[in-house]
Amino acid sequence: KFNTNVGQHILKNPGVSDAIVDKAYLKPTDTVLEVGPGTGNLTVRILEKAKKCICVELDPRMAAEVTKRVQGKPEQRKLEVLLGDVIKTDLPAFDVCISNTPYQISSPLVFKLLAMPNPPRTSVLMFLREFALRLTARPGDALYCRLSVNAQFWAKITHIMKVGKNNFRPPPQVESSVVRIEPKTGKDRPNVSWDEWDGLLRVCFVRKNKTLRASWLGTKEVLAMVERNYRTWCAMNGVPIDESLVEDDGEEEMEVEDNGPADNEDMDVDDEDAPDFFKELRNSAASSAPKTKSKRKKTKVAELVREKIRKVLEDVTDLADKRSGKCDENDFLRLLFAFNEEGIHFS
Ligand code: SAM
Repeated sequence: KFNTNVGQHILKNPGVSDAIVDKAYLKPTDTVLEVGPGTGNLTVRILEKAKKCICVELDPRMAAEVTKRVQGKPEQRKLEVLLGDVIKTDLPAFDVCISNTPYQISSPLVFKLLAMPNPPRTSVLMFLREFALRLTARPGDALYCRLSVNAQFWAKITHIMKVGKNNFRPPPQVESSVVRIEPKTGKDRPNVSWDEWDGLLRVCFVRKNKTLRASWLGTKEVLAMVERNYRTWCAMNGVPIDESLVEDDGEEEMEVEDNGPADNEDMDVDDEDAPDFFKELRNSAASSAPKTKSKRKKTKVAELVREKIRKVLEDVTDLADKRSGKCDENDFLRLLFAFNEEGIHFS
C-alpha cells in the first residue's frame, strides 16, 4: 500500500505525532505548511491548533486520503491540499513548517526553507538520524559538511527527540530524529548574500578533507569558474582585463597536489540539486587521474586570478593549509570577505 520509493513511512505512534505538533508551539493565528501529509496523522493535530494548514503532497492517493479524513468536519475549511513536489512548488506564505519528511528530499527541503526571503518562524521536521546529526555537526566532526555550515549559519538548530524505526509503518531501515530549525531574524540574520555564501561553501566542500589550497588552486574547473566570475565583476565595474598571453608550465597545479584521504567519505553528499558546474567539479574531484605537466599559454588575467586566490588563502586569511572539515563559520566568513575584497564573487 505504501510507496517507500517516495519515503512513505507513516507514523503509527500517536504519542510521536502529538509530540511533533506540540514542539512547534503553534499559535491559533498560524498558517502551517505540512510537507507530505500522507494519511493525515500530523495534519489532524495541526488543524486542531492552527488557523490553516497547507499540505503539499506528491502522491494523489495520499492527497485524497488526507482530504477525505476531514471531509464534512469543521476543520475541512482550514485545510488546503496542493498536489505536487514541494521542491518544485512555489510556496505561499506560512508561519511554521511541520513534516515527517520524505527522506529523499531532506537536503533540498532544508535549503529551500533556509533560502526563503521570509523563512518560517519555526520548522519541526523528522529526518533520518544521520541527516539530523549532519545538521548539528560541528567543525572536526565526521559528519560536518556544507549542510552543517549552511544550516547553522542561517538558523538555530535543535535536536528535539529520537524516534525509533518501529514507530513507522513500514519501518525505515534506520532510526530517525526530530529537529527544530529556527531561522535567525533581525540583527541575528547574517548580512551576507545566500548565493555568495553557498557558492563559496560549495567549492570549499567539494573535498572537505583537502586543504583549502588544494580545493581552490588545484582544480582547473575552480580556477576557470573564479576567472569567469572575476571577468564579469571587471566588466560591471569598468576594470580593464589583460588578455595578453604568458607561458604556463603547470607548476602551481602540481605544487598543490594534496594526498589527503581519497575515498568517498569526504565528498559533499548534499549537492544532488547542484548546478551542473558543481556536479562536474565533484566528478572531477572523485577521479584520481594524475595531473600531467603541460606547456601551454595562459592569459595574464588567469595568472592574476590565481595570484588573488593565493593572496586570499595565504596572506590575508592564513587558511591555505586548513581543511574545510575543520573550518568554522568565522573562517568561512573571513574567506568570503577576503575574496570579495579582491573582486571575486560567487553569485
Ligand atoms: N505525514 C505522514 C505521517 O507522518 O504519517 C506521512 C509521512 S511520509 C514519511 C512522507 C510523505 O511525503 C508521503 O505521503 C509521500 O507521498 C510524500 N512525499 C514524498 N515526496 C514528496 C515531495 N517531493 N513533495 C511532497 N510530498 C512528498
